[in-house]
Amino acid sequence: MSLICLNNKSIISKLNPSFPVINSLKWRTQTSWSSSNTITLISPSTKLFRTSCTAIHKTNDYVTRDVGTTTQGETMSELEAALPKGWFWFRKWHSEDMANVFWYAVIHVLAVCAPFMFTWGAFWVATGLSFLTGFGVTLGYHRLLCHRSFKVPKWLEYFFVYCGAHAFQKDPLFYVNTHKNHHKYADTDRDPVAPTHGFWYCNMGWFCNNHHIAAKCGESKGGEYSKVPELKAQWLYRFLHDTYYWHPTALAALLYLHGGLSYLAWGMGMRGVVVHHFASLATFVSHIWGDRPWNTPDTSTNNWWVAMLTLGEGWHNNHHAFPRSARHGFEWWQFDLTWELIKFLKLVGLARDVKLPTEAEKRRMSVKLKIKGKVE
Ligand SMILES: [Zn+2]
Ligand SMILES: [Zn+2]
Repeated sequence: MSLICLNNKSIISKLNPSFPVINSLKWRTQTSWSSSNTITLISPSTKLFRTSCTAIHKTNDYVTRDVGTTTQGETMSELEAALPKGWFWFRKWHSEDMANVFWYAVIHVLAVCAPFMFTWGAFWVATGLSFLTGFGVTLGYHRLLCHRSFKVPKWLEYFFVYCGAHAFQKDPLFYVNTHKNHHKYADTDRDPVAPTHGFWYCNMGWFCNNHHIAAKCGESKGGEYSKVPELKAQWLYRFLHDTYYWHPTALAALLYLHGGLSYLAWGMGMRGVVVHHFASLATFVSHIWGDRPWNTPDTSTNNWWVAMLTLGEGWHNNHHAFPRSARHGFEWWQFDLTWELIKFLKLVGLARDVKLPTEAEKRRMSVKLKIKGKVE
């Protein structure tokens, strides 16, 4: 039997009359907190429904997630996790938030100037850096650090992660800690990149409001990064965290000294804007539009054009279904450039323990089996 929490019983009853529905008010008392924020629940027929319940509790064939408990086991208040009114402008600004907004503004101004300073040299430098820093996020930050979906020698891990530190997705401690919370609490108020908060939030809000993100992750305002103790134990990741903005500053200086304003505008501005906005597509668009071949307890979707722009990260429903898989595009037509690079690294002996979902795991996540009631 499965339980699902909805504020509109008639919708779910029409879909599957045998599906038990509980009242969201009753649910609220069980989880001790909730909010009026809208989230999406997944029905057995793969249709998406907006509800006013922030918790998804399911039994047997569904995952149980308690979004009302912090990592320290304390109950979190609705106020801390939900997005308050005036969350962006009308709040206390901290120096780190201001630094993030400053860099966000700088790369956008440079990107606007870039077409007026076009040179082929600057264009190719920007293209090369886009791929390097893009793979730094997809391969280094995401598949390697967040999910440990394969192993590489330490020097190569550090190389990719250092490239990722130039992609304007913040330092590895912040990114990995935040991303782990995204998987655990996807689409709820506790999700640090909740698509339900809108595009603006997913695009820049999540990294310009440190204290709010820390609260969502169940941590104090300073952020303990409690989900990444193995990264905190490594000096390079602590160093990158403490000196984060010195690194893009050094790269900007190098580009300017080598090729002048043109290299600066293309290598930092245009490249930074493209990489940052493409990366945010995976967290926003891939939770709204696309196909859902797997029965995940969130709104993740597979979106081909996002996958093209994000080096394979757009096969997001595949990824939420099998987070540890190094491969996100499972079908031959689901092009996943990051997976192609991992395959190459394996071929030349640099990648090992490459994780892929087994056929039994795929059967368990299959939507069709769930509809037929043949849950294993
Ligand atoms: Zn997601
Ligand atoms: Zn992930």
